Amino acid sequence: MKFIGAHVSAAGGVENAPKNAHDIGATAFALFTKNQRRWQAKPLTRENILGFKKTCDTYGYLPDRILAHDSYLINLGHPDKEALEKSRTAFVDEMERCSQLGLAFLNFHPGSHLGKSDLDTCLATIADSINSALDKTQGVTAVIENTAGQGTNVGFHFDQIAAIIDQVHDKARVGVCIDTCHAFSAGYDLKTKQGFEDTWQAFDAAIGLTYLKGMHLNDSKKIMGSKVDRHESLGRGTLGMAVFERIVTDDRFDNIPLILETPDPAIWPSEIRQLKGFCDS
Ligand SMILES: [Zn+2]
Ligand SMILES: [Zn+2]
Repeated sequence: MKFIGAHVSAAGGVENAPKNAHDIGATAFALFTKNQRRWQAKPLTRENILGFKKTCDTYGYLPDRILAHDSYLINLGHPDKEALEKSRTAFVDEMERCSQLGLAFLNFHPGSHLGKSDLDTCLATIADSINSALDKTQGVTAVIENTAGQGTNVGFHFDQIAAIIDQVHDKARVGVCIDTCHAFSAGYDLKTKQGFEDTWQAFDAAIGLTYLKGMHLNDSKKIMGSKVDRHESLGRGTLGMAVFERIVTDDRFDNIPLILETPDPAIWPSEIRQLKGFCDS
């Protein structure tokens, strides 16, 4: 079974997200549980929590079809001690919010060395951050998203993600989310049939398909290997539509949230309809 949706708005309260997902015909969704551009957030209220659970129940969104995304400000690989602590505290808060909402997954961008530490140190710092967050929380899996490799962001190569996971103690609570735009921008040729197969073989060899907990389905405005992260609507970018048809007709990607982060929410209903159409045919 394929679960297809988009990163929907939680404006006015997290409890509004499931209805927003339902309205666009989604069978999965992603959300921010707080304002993604701020450090501080009001704690979730009883109304938020009960409302969210009730609406998920009403529309049939089980926890394995929902991918929460953390704040863009958090850098779990930060080279400065004080800034790292701030990120770690914020990340634990995000994990706790997910736990309160009964969510299973928190998706995050691994981090950046900011030119102040080397790659291996940054990857080890990220793993330490995950370990301390998992120690302090329960039930929620930390889901590492591959990056485009823009600037000093790490996690664009599958080996880098594998190196983080290797250093995480509780392997049952760490996973991976592959963003198609990021992978293509990082140099993985998802566009051609052979490149698609090679990419997933490389993923399985380096990380293991069992770690795949979700995907972000985005076309790209930039060419393969550009290291630039600019999402495009499906079929309108450099990736083209074929890769998305391959994904939704491939049983390796059953039963995980497949989430659009494409730039035009007005066409999400038609993008979702088109993807569902590939599954049916
Ligand atoms: Zn993404
Ligand atoms: Zn992106």
